[in-house]
Amino acid sequence: MNVILDLDHCLIYSSYSEIEGLDLVDKKGYLFLYHRPGLKEFLKQVIKMKNINLVFYTSAKADYARWVVQSFNLDVNYRLFTRSNTRMKYTDYGQLYYKSIEKIGISKTERNVVLDDRIDLWDSTGVDLIDIDQWHGEPNDKKLEEAFVTIYKLINKDNRRAIFPF
Ligand SMILES: [Mg+2]
Repeated sequence: MNVILDLDHCLIYSSYSEIEGLDLVDKKGYLFLYHRPGLKEFLKQVIKMKNINLVFYTSAKADYARWVVQSFNLDVNYRLFTRSNTRMKYTDYGQLYYKSIEKIGISKTERNVVLDDRIDLWDSTGVDLIDIDQWHGEPNDKKLEEAFVTIYKLINKDNRRAIFPF
């Protein structure tokens, strides 16, 4: 089972200005990196679930994404997929990056749970999409707590399937 997590506005926020009332996690150039409230506990709980593969999938560029993920200080294996694993489309609103499990080589026969603030940019084939409100540094946000409950229920719901090959 794969838990696939977006980064920007979902788990973290990186801002060009410092935000009062939030712990600064790291700084890179002009960017201030902040973790969404409850992130540490959220990741701890996700990792604690059995038979889970942890996957980060962002439409950001790879070096930025690696900087973000290393700030989580994880001591477990995970996979990270970035912009080169999205499908880019030119639209009236500029370039958009579409995500799919096909683009990251994950099978739709597995249970795949996705947490993202832009589920509209996902191909829903083979995934359970969990929408989360965008986070822009609000200090009292509780959405990751709620998201974990949803993930937990999806992962633990009876997914035995009746398979009749004949
Ligand atoms: Mg996002």
